[in-house]
Amino acid sequence: MALVCLAAILGLSLLNGAVPATRAEQAAPGGAGESPRQESSANWTVGAITFESEYPDGFTFRLEVESDAGEIASARVEWTHRPNTRPDLPITVRRAEGEIDPETGAIVATWRPSGATSIPPWVGVDYRWRLRDSAGNEFVTEITFAEYEDTSRDWERYESDEVLVFATGLPDNVGDLVLEAMDAQRQKYVDGWGQLLPYRPRVILFGDFDTWLEWQTGHQDTSGLGVIAVGFTSDVWGGTAQVLFGSPTELAYGTVLHEIEHLYQQEFLAGRNVFTPGWFIEGDATFYQLEDMGYALDYVDVLVDAGQLPVLLQGSGPTTGGESALHGYYIGYSFFLWLDQQWGIDVHREIMALLADNVPFSDALEQATGMTVEQLEREWRTWLGATADAPTLVPTWTPVFPTIATPMPQGG
Ligand SMILES: [Zn+2]
Repeated sequence: MALVCLAAILGLSLLNGAVPATRAEQAAPGGAGESPRQESSANWTVGAITFESEYPDGFTFRLEVESDAGEIASARVEWTHRPNTRPDLPITVRRAEGEIDPETGAIVATWRPSGATSIPPWVGVDYRWRLRDSAGNEFVTEITFAEYEDTSRDWERYESDEVLVFATGLPDNVGDLVLEAMDAQRQKYVDGWGQLLPYRPRVILFGDFDTWLEWQTGHQDTSGLGVIAVGFTSDVWGGTAQVLFGSPTELAYGTVLHEIEHLYQQEFLAGRNVFTPGWFIEGDATFYQLEDMGYALDYVDVLVDAGQLPVLLQGSGPTTGGESALHGYYIGYSFFLWLDQQWGIDVHREIMALLADNVPFSDALEQATGMTVEQLEREWRTWLGATADAPTLVPTWTPVFPTIATPMPQGG
């Protein structure tokens, strides 16, 4: 079973009705200190604002509020699952209508997970209410933060400046391993992107498959297809959820760092809407794993020795799906390693900055390295010990099963 780190639930934002953040929403999440906005002369009195997690069945918001100008006519709660760090780009905002009790005026709104909207426990919820009274006055409450907590079992919680870790059913040292791994890789993230992620990602770790599957409403068993999902990474809720597969050290220093790099890609390339090859995305994430990566280079060596190293910088390059999915991961990794050995980590930052500006992929490589893609391909191949000339035909492949997790939204 070729078990690739199953990346990301991306595209979720489209499924879930992403809306562009408006100017008014820019201050949204994280908005500690934001004052309630009053858009009328009415006096609004806010009583209790509460959030109750009913994990795994969703959550309920409750509000007590009054306007001195009239009855509450409509109430809607809206929330995001991560801070809004991209003012000019879309971010997923979810909403629920509040039901107003005609007797007491108490307002209740609920959210129930379904299909693609499912989220793991311990995702953050930044929410606020939008209200209108019968005289047409409008009011928006302050942002309030809550967590989709799971109180049905024991969880360990760990924090550093870089990351929040939640773990259940795992050895006690898992959380510390993740904090150590993130700390060890911190400078490479900074150097590769010019800055850290502008929010603290959530790493949510499960020790067994039943607990792992519990939050995945509508989960379909794909094991008969030779593939199972052991992780999801989401820009919508700003984190990664993983079930232990391998050792705790591999999880922390391999998978988590790989998935965190996907969050960097999604954050800083969020505005990119032109083609980026899948191997580049996966090779980059693999480049951020902090393990002995000899197995990846061995994999590439086998292809080199067999004269089967595929073309990289033409068309979409090596696949990241189907039976040969690891081609894209490991061949891509070897390219990042080579770039790093030639130019240092600065070239990573330069390429990503160009990609963020929607520069076509080949142009970005050429501008950052000063070499043509043909030269790059020949030099990299020679470095690997392959023939300098790439095959002229792009290898074709046929997926034997549907791709169940998509690496990245851009391009692919
Ligand atoms: Zn990946």
